[in-house]
Amino acid sequence: MEFSQGLISAAYIIAALLFIMSLGGLSKQESAQNGNWYGIVGMSIALIATIADPRVSNVGVIIVAVAIGGAIGFRLAKKVEMTEMPELVAILHSFVGLAAVLVGFNSYFEAHAHVLPVLTDEQRIAQNIHLTEVFLGVFIGAVTFTGSIVAFGKLRGLINSAALMLPNRHKMNLAAGVVSFLLMINFVSNGGGNFELFLMTAIALVFGWHLVASIGGADMPVVVSMLNSYSGWAAAAAGFMLSNDLLIVTGALVGSSGAILSYIMCKAMNRSFISVIAGGFGTDVTVDTDVDYGEHVEIQADGVADMLANAKSVIITPGYGMAVAQAQYPVYELTQKLKAKGVEVRFGIHPVAGRLPGHMNVLLAEAKVPYDIVLGMEEINEDFGETDVVLVIGANDTVNPAASEDPGSPIAGMPVLEVWNAKNVIVFKRSMSTGYAGVQNPLFFKDNSQMLFGDAKESVEKISQHLS
Ligand code: NDP
Repeated sequence: MEFSQGLISAAYIIAALLFIMSLGGLSKQESAQNGNWYGIVGMSIALIATIADPRVSNVGVIIVAVAIGGAIGFRLAKKVEMTEMPELVAILHSFVGLAAVLVGFNSYFEAHAHVLPVLTDEQRIAQNIHLTEVFLGVFIGAVTFTGSIVAFGKLRGLINSAALMLPNRHKMNLAAGVVSFLLMINFVSNGGGNFELFLMTAIALVFGWHLVASIGGADMPVVVSMLNSYSGWAAAAAGFMLSNDLLIVTGALVGSSGAILSYIMCKAMNRSFISVIAGGFGTDVTVDTDVDYGEHVEIQADGVADMLANAKSVIITPGYGMAVAQAQYPVYELTQKLKAKGVEVRFGIHPVAGRLPGHMNVLLAEAKVPYDIVLGMEEINEDFGETDVVLVIGANDTVNPAASEDPGSPIAGMPVLEVWNAKNVIVFKRSMSTGYAGVQNPLFFKDNSQMLFGDAKESVEKISQHLS
């Protein structure tokens, strides 16, 4: 089945509109499911229209490739745990980057195969535009490719999450940018050049690797969303090379929404956007691991149950550990029990709690926790002072007072949930180990803090039993 160009353009416009509606839907929890559906339908239309384009040959091969890729993607997405989602997103971004590099090379060598000996002015302009597209597309794609692989490695724990602090790293980044720019000028003015293209690709691959390796664990949420943005621009660049309008629109949507999300996250974490995208510029901090914070105090589940039964107000601040333990269901049961005893229970959510933006909100919604008792950090931070008990369930970096008290800390300046202002703080975790950023947490040693060791789900269930 072949579509006419008019029909393909119409299908692309419908798909583009559906993508915009999808982004709109995904911006709110209530409409997110519809948003997903708009995206799925839009992408299906786009795929069918692309395959049915009369310029496309080897349709059979494409269909087989789509079927194999789709089956692998379906299996992976079904298998992936919520906590592994950012890893999956990071590795998918690397594929977009690699695809942009391959499209760039293909487009260059194809056009180069029939270079005309003498060019008219118009042909020269068209050629210059094409070569610039190729160069930029390959550059962005290569940076996205290796950067995403490093992000995947850091999130998965295969690569140390601490920032790689090579001497003169900012100068190296700057040099990579300047040399690539000079190569582009040479490449375009000479009407192409394999040497320039290959050298730039090698530089961009190393640059992408180094850029993300230089960013510390605490800034990874911004990195993931920034790579999302890069992958969008890489796709848009591929769209220009393939003269595919839909790819340009989709790439620009992903690129700009990823950039906006990165900016919002930087604001929420009090990070400079430029410093994060420039590979941790201005984050030269030293981690002092020898500080003696004193002794921590332990408590058992029955002690926590007594404390909660006598409390008037309780705030629960969940983190990554609640997701790992899948403790959201017993946590909500505990909430209902306390509510029945007349205790006010609310949730305080840090914007980067867990491993992906909105992670805690999704888990709590899964457990049917009503939205009106789930509050954002800025809505609840003032209330800790008047709270009897705070239950820190599997959170660590997001409740670390070092962020505001220790200017030398890697998370210095990041706004955190000020749980230590409450009368009592109970920290649920399995050991004294650090959180994602690898920083010790002085909260555990404060006079009003007590540690409840064990798997978060089991601990919450034990407390519930004692309360019954
Ligand atoms: P953290 O990662 O700082 O800490 C989680 C804590 O949970 C650990 O200290 C761990 O301690 C504990 N834990 C793990 N498993 C269990 C379990 N089964 N039962 C009980 N406790 C458990 O979590 P936060 O949510 O506070 O902070 C998120 C961090 O992740 C931030 O640094 C953020 O920058 C980063 N990040 C966030 C992303 C996002 O978009 N939200 C994306 C990528 C990174 P122990 O091992 O002792 O049990």
